[in-house]
Amino acid sequence: MKKTKAFVSVDMEGLPHITSNEHMAPGKLLYDEARSIMTECVLAMADELHGSGFERVVVADSHGPKVNLIPEKMPAFVDVVRGNPRSISMIAGGKGCDAALFLGYHAKPGTPNATFDHTISSQVIRTLKYNGEETSEFYMNAATLGEQGVPVILVAGDRALLQEDVAKHAPWAVRVPQKESLGRYAAISPSMPRSLQLIRDGVKEAVTKLYGGDMKLLKLNTPVQTEIQFTDSEYAHIASHLPGSKMIGGWRVQFTSPSMEEAYRVTQLLVFAGSGVKSSVSE
Ligand SMILES: [Zn+2]
Repeated sequence: MKKTKAFVSVDMEGLPHITSNEHMAPGKLLYDEARSIMTECVLAMADELHGSGFERVVVADSHGPKVNLIPEKMPAFVDVVRGNPRSISMIAGGKGCDAALFLGYHAKPGTPNATFDHTISSQVIRTLKYNGEETSEFYMNAATLGEQGVPVILVAGDRALLQEDVAKHAPWAVRVPQKESLGRYAAISPSMPRSLQLIRDGVKEAVTKLYGGDMKLLKLNTPVQTEIQFTDSEYAHIASHLPGSKMIGGWRVQFTSPSMEEAYRVTQLLVFAGSGVKSSVSE
């Protein structure tokens, strides 16, 4: 059956040459460089998808304030999901698409030699587990899309994420390394022309595999048990106000959700609650 609509979720930390906190947010010294790298990578991916037969490409700008992509550079066949906060954050707009691709993705917290290792928020979350498995953003996003019937066919990003999580949880997905990290704030990356070519080659391979029937859905068993270890005991205390949740020691909260999508939404809610506590309390 013909595939007509592709979904791209793009983060920043796993993109080539992005290594400094000065890349990360509007107003920072290297932010314009980061926007331009993100936009070039998205253009290469979207163009190759369109050339492979996808009539529409939905791109979810999924880093920080989620207004990083330069929208006026996008061609007519691209729709952009912009702005924050939003429901199911990094994968808003993915439902109903024929395939999903992740770009610029980074490793989960505690991964050695991985730039900006974290899941959702390094300010609020130490570790996040679904059904006992420590999760990266790749894992929670792919599992939610899997529940919605959308296969993840390609992941491009930090080699540490690809080698650990992607190989383990979605071995069918094509892996495109965009950097080899030398620490949390250093990496070796291919030149931009080479990086863009690797993205294009990866898309071709992934689409061929998709049409060959070689792609699968990542699905978790339901109900889904979530366990969050917070960076501050007060965030855990506030999270424990959620009906049905329970505290484990001073840092962790557990709760159960009927679906991965609901587990995702509640996780987001508790991160917002923790951020609110952080801004209202000073020590
Ligand atoms: Zn990010």
